[in-house]
Amino acid sequence: MKILWLLPFQLHLSQDAFKHLGDDDVIALIEDDAFYRMRPFHKKRIVALMSAMRHHEATLKALGFNVRFIQGDTKETLRTFNPGELLTIQATDADIVAWQSSITGALGIHHQAFHDAQFILKESDVKARLSKRPYKMDPFYRVMRKDFNVLIKGDKPLHGAWSFDKENRKKLPKNTFIPEPKWPEIDPMTHDVMTYVKEHFQDHPGEVDGFRQPVTHAEAKALADHFFEERLATFGPYQDALTTQYKDVSHSMVSQALNTGLLDPLDLIKHAESKLVSGAPMNSVEGFIRQILGWREYIRGIYLKEMPGYHDHNHYGHTRNLPHYYWDGETNMHCMQDATSHVIDDGYAHHIQRLMVLGNFANLAGVDPKAVNAWFLEMFVDSHDWVVTPNVIGMALHADGGLMATKPYISSGSYIHKMGDYCEACYYDVKAKTGEKACPFNALYWNYIDRHMETLEKNPRMGIPLSVFKKMDPENVTALRKQAEYLLEHLETL
Ligand SMILES: Cc1cc2nc3c(=O)[nH]c(=O)nc-3n(C[C@H](O)[C@H](O)[C@H](O)COP(=O)(O)OP(=O)(O)OC[C@H]3O[C@@H](n4cnc5c(N)ncnc54)[C@H](O)[C@@H]3O)c2cc1C
Ligand code: SF4
Repeated sequence: MKILWLLPFQLHLSQDAFKHLGDDDVIALIEDDAFYRMRPFHKKRIVALMSAMRHHEATLKALGFNVRFIQGDTKETLRTFNPGELLTIQATDADIVAWQSSITGALGIHHQAFHDAQFILKESDVKARLSKRPYKMDPFYRVMRKDFNVLIKGDKPLHGAWSFDKENRKKLPKNTFIPEPKWPEIDPMTHDVMTYVKEHFQDHPGEVDGFRQPVTHAEAKALADHFFEERLATFGPYQDALTTQYKDVSHSMVSQALNTGLLDPLDLIKHAESKLVSGAPMNSVEGFIRQILGWREYIRGIYLKEMPGYHDHNHYGHTRNLPHYYWDGETNMHCMQDATSHVIDDGYAHHIQRLMVLGNFANLAGVDPKAVNAWFLEMFVDSHDWVVTPNVIGMALHADGGLMATKPYISSGSYIHKMGDYCEACYYDVKAKTGEKACPFNALYWNYIDRHMETLEKNPRMGIPLSVFKKMDPENVTALRKQAEYLLEHLETL
């Protein structure tokens, strides 16, 4: 008898491995608390994965598969099955691969791993496409557009450009109406999981109350369909907006479902493309497609190319601890208070909060990249090492020295001010660089430029801020240095 051992994020319905199962073979869904305890994951992340796997039993049964859902220790469960052949879905995360190998090694069984259909490209294919370091997203994305015939006319990009990103940097005007995402109702099975997680994972961060993620393919599809109908038009222009008006702005909110296999990436891409016919703006459609066909596949490819060792990069030699507000949201910095609270409450923050608020601040404050990476991995509902590590180490912190992003994504308070309304109601003054009420992002930004001058001078894309700093009045430089020194000493009380 063959056993196909599925993990809670391998729930795609078109897994290649299914074709290798006969009538008597079994799909094993093992709910093992140890799996969810590998790290102190946010309670809502555990609920999402646990509930999705419990629901998956009925979905697979309805499709005619022989399914066994078992609660218990993974190794002992697999030992009891005593499989003639063990099939798995290839995990991307290195620690999951190692965990699976340690179990099969201890049992003395070989396992055959199949491609995970949540990714468009097979492992060997994505690695082959990223043959040259440093990696570049734009050429990767263009080839993906051509190969999968997405937004292509003849062999040229539809509407004459590969990217419409320049149109996607607008601040959200006051009183703009964006419908809320269509979150599913909590059903009794999810309710049971929430109770279980509350009791058994008390030591994990976050709360189960307010859980809102889809846990079935139908719920995930309803969330995505509603996005395409009601939120896609505003996705593009306000993709980079920071606002207190809407927690999720006009983002699709599909990452957790995609990373669990509840949605198919190419289906989403084709759906987005089809919306052009009914008048969806090209900058929204292309912007959304670029995230999934481009960024998501590119990020996974970088992880596969650069592991093991990608966690160890620390290009700027940062060593500080992550301040307490990343866990309790208690800070006078309005932008940080809003973004950290969103993460603590929902296990989620949108891309610009992750990159330009949470990541940017940790980078300016010189926090150890490993600590930042661990926080992103543990606190988000959609987290997996393959997507967190390149986004944190490579994109947000530039700790890999530019293997995947051409420059550090750092900014002073002026960017946060330009893109949103946080600064209007902040204890700090975004315009001030020094003094008790000066926005901490300001002096920390210039201090970053100052202390990493030698490294940054080698980066042609950093020319403008470096020359502004070099032209600064020496008195200003001294004042900024003093201010930054104070801020870094009092990081915990900002
Ligand atoms: C520091 C940092 C940490 C991140 N951690 C995660 C994470 O744990 N899990 C995760 O899925 N994404 C992560 N991202 C990428 C991105 O921020 C999220 O995918 C996005 O915010 C999820 O919300 P959404 O589904 O509404 O996305 P949308 O903005 O609506 O985008 C649509 C989809 O595109 C994909 N996508 C967009 N940007 C990226 C990207 N940079 N890398 C990979 N896929 C992308 C996602 O699948 C996303 O669902 C991180 C980015 C940064 C800068
Ligand atoms: S003033 Fe500074 S700390 Fe306050 S919200 Fe603006 S950028 Fe953030």
